[in-house]
Amino acid sequence: MNTIFQELTQVCEEHKITLVAVSKTKSAEAIQDLYDKGQKHFGENYVQELLEKQACLPEDICWHFIGHLQTNKVRQILPFVYLIHSVDSWKLFQEIHKQSVRLNREVNILLQAYVAEEETKYGMDANELLAFMERWSAIREQYPYVRIKGIMGMASFTDDQTRVRDEMQQIRALFNTLKKTYFIGQSYFDTCSMGMSGDYRIAIEEGSTLLRIGSLLFGSRNTLPAL
Ligand SMILES: *Cc1c(COP(=O)(O)O)cnc(C)c1O
Repeated sequence: MNTIFQELTQVCEEHKITLVAVSKTKSAEAIQDLYDKGQKHFGENYVQELLEKQACLPEDICWHFIGHLQTNKVRQILPFVYLIHSVDSWKLFQEIHKQSVRLNREVNILLQAYVAEEETKYGMDANELLAFMERWSAIREQYPYVRIKGIMGMASFTDDQTRVRDEMQQIRALFNTLKKTYFIGQSYFDTCSMGMSGDYRIAIEEGSTLLRIGSLLFGSRNTLPAL
């Protein structure tokens, strides 16, 4: 039995948090195995990999797209994706809107917030996020099929717990600001996606509503060891 899985599931239930099992680079068998233990939410980073897995795994899996999404690939995942965590530009938002109209399908998204002090991370910083929201709120009725459910963020990859906590607080504060500025009375704006294997405890303490956990659940990823 996967006791880590059971523990995480229990912790998430206690805190009313959604547990997303991040299965990038993991086999369909490994996903099926966790699914058979009761896990329904899985997260993938790459479109091609997601398409292959979605085609051969149970239909009721809720697939979360958590990686950087190129506009030319939106069309392929939109028919089935449950939640896109990584909307980081107005251009990508427009493409999701366009394809959602074409499909006549409601699509749930999160805006990716950038708070880490790392140049490599995608996302919008606080000013960009607010500029995005201003632009959106002036014409929000033009986007009937795209539902902004919250934000996603990543803390820096560091052992400095104080810094991780500070960044998580920034993410949660951004979520609160958007909620009270643009989504008053809109209960669907309810998702603050933060926390991974290394920092999920801090994330819970700082108000995460969704954890994205990979290596803790699946073991370290199937990549070749460094030579
Ligand atoms: C890989 C990944 C995760 C999971 O990371 P772990 O440290 O393996 O838990 C979470 N979120 C994103 C965006 C990822 O790319």
